[in-house]
Amino acid sequence: MSARARRLAAHLRDLRAAAAAFPDALVLLDENGRVRWLNRAATRLLGLDWPRDRGVPLAERLGGSVLGEWLGTGEDRVEDIAAPVDAGIRMNASLIAFGRGQRVLCARDISHLARLEQVRRDFVANVSHELRTPLTVIHGYLELLDHEEVPALAPVLNEMRIQSRRMGQIVEDLLTLSRLEMQQHLPDEPVPMAPMLASIYKEALALSQGRHRIALENDASCDLLGSSRDLHSAFSNLVSNAVRYTPSGGEIVIRWQRTSAGAEYSVTDTGYGIPAEHLSRLTERFYRVSSSRSRGTGGTGLGLSIVKHVLNLHQARLSIRSEPGRGSVFACVFAVSRLLEAGREAT
Ligand code: ADP
Repeated sequence: MSARARRLAAHLRDLRAAAAAFPDALVLLDENGRVRWLNRAATRLLGLDWPRDRGVPLAERLGGSVLGEWLGTGEDRVEDIAAPVDAGIRMNASLIAFGRGQRVLCARDISHLARLEQVRRDFVANVSHELRTPLTVIHGYLELLDHEEVPALAPVLNEMRIQSRRMGQIVEDLLTLSRLEMQQHLPDEPVPMAPMLASIYKEALALSQGRHRIALENDASCDLLGSSRDLHSAFSNLVSNAVRYTPSGGEIVIRWQRTSAGAEYSVTDTGYGIPAEHLSRLTERFYRVSSSRSRGTGGTGLGLSIVKHVLNLHQARLSIRSEPGRGSVFACVFAVSRLLEAGREAT
């Protein structure tokens, strides 16, 4: 063997050894999805065996597992799924194309992250739950105190009541978020849209107290399939935001309409609007464009997080368009699979 060939062979051995020792599972697939090579982590995480599985179609070999099902979908990335060898191991997986139709499957063990995430969720849920009772007691006593007995304390008592109510609302919103996070699915019940929209319209009028012109447009003539309670909470959150972030004299339109891909519930306002750089972060917990404006209008900073979670559980998405000084459109976009012809029962 020439010196050059020896050097190349050594290079190849090094690359193979490095890939074999890689902590993520790597499986090289040919253009027909058959296994060409795999590393040690692929044995540990995916239960594959070398050389037994050489040339075997991977989707078939992993049939019956969640990973096998995902391989059949043709998607190139999946997050937080169970490992075929042990449902207690959580993984992220991706399929990376290279060469002429070959692909490499890369799966990473994220059990540690998933456990941390669980600890965070439990912590928030427990803290919120523990705060609920003392807050109810404080709130109850504050309501009992009669400010007429000590007029000098009237403004203080009033402020204490407002703040304790605010804390109560934050706790309730955190508990709602915890419940939504723990749920994989929501009840799939028919949600009649006409009464839902009528009640949301009424809420908007009550919140606005005549400060805005508010219109309701319903030309979709279809209902939704999902959780009535949670959809109501998401839809009314958007209306409450529109009222709170639109100065007096502004206009708000609540709309339920068909689109080419399904249907859309939207709330359009002529309010303050939101600068573009904030848009992608609005659904994060406690993210606010202006803290003082949000608090001043009674916001908890959790409304849009709740909206996003509710929509995710309905395989729907939130689309936000906004222009500072002109107004915003918040739209909940539903796929056809979530629609029911109005008045018709689910099949
Ligand atoms: P908050 O309780 O603070 O309103 P949300 O999660 O509902 O919390 O909204 C997050 C932030 O997004 C708000 O603080 C506000 O800055 C911005 N926002 C939401 N809706 C609107 C709107 N219709 N117009 C302008 N800004 C909005």
